[in-house]
Amino acid sequence: MVDLKKNITEVKNRIARAAERCGRSPQEITLVAVTKTIPVERINEAIQLGIQHIGENRIQEAREKLPKIQDNVTRHFVGHLQRNKVKYAIKLFDMIQSVDSLALAEEINQRCVNSGKKMPVLIEVNTSGESSKYGCEPQETLTLLQAIDRLPALSVQGFMTVALYSEDLERVRPCFKLLKSLFDEAQNLPLKNADIKILSMGMSSDFEIAIEEGSTMVRIGTAIFGPREYAEIK
Ligand SMILES: *Cc1c(COP(=O)(O)O)cnc(C)c1O
Repeated sequence: MVDLKKNITEVKNRIARAAERCGRSPQEITLVAVTKTIPVERINEAIQLGIQHIGENRIQEAREKLPKIQDNVTRHFVGHLQRNKVKYAIKLFDMIQSVDSLALAEEINQRCVNSGKKMPVLIEVNTSGESSKYGCEPQETLTLLQAIDRLPALSVQGFMTVALYSEDLERVRPCFKLLKSLFDEAQNLPLKNADIKILSMGMSSDFEIAIEEGSTMVRIGTAIFGPREYAEIK
């Protein structure tokens, strides 16, 4: 059985050590526990143990689980969002991290305007160049940011990426460097609604180098909950 308390402590310690190694404060880094495939009871246990942010990647699963999750937690959507699921996403989540097209942003905006909401979002960028990954192209990111900035019900708070998966972390690092450089460039743009402060990058296999490269939000599943058992969820 996975020892949640031990794993959460260990992850927090690793975040703190990585931050200190590069002269950053551990407080700058938000831990999002990615709870996809994890049963409600385990998620609530993690919240009892101090987890303040959770991430889910499928709307169907979130619709089943989130109503049973304790409400003292911030809910992030980190998966690919289809336009026909936006109506659920804006009800279920406090932040959508995976906006990667103007069409999707416009759909979220329209739904939020209709229900009098304002939705914090991140723009997902494909930093690895892999066609299997979601996200907008790096070179179109700032144009997309400026277009989304005009939508009144959205507030862009930064960028998110899923880096290349490789055992060789030095091949992963350039993905993080690329996102950080876009983040720095975005600081110089004249923006209305946006407040670019979150750099959501780093997962179980690579969060320490993501922190070295400037991450302010890491999304950790396996290192907290153990390996996922996909067979259990249909
Ligand atoms: C599953 C997932 C994570 C967490 O992955 P682990 O390798 O289990 O830490 C982070 N971000 C996204 C977008 C995910 O889908």
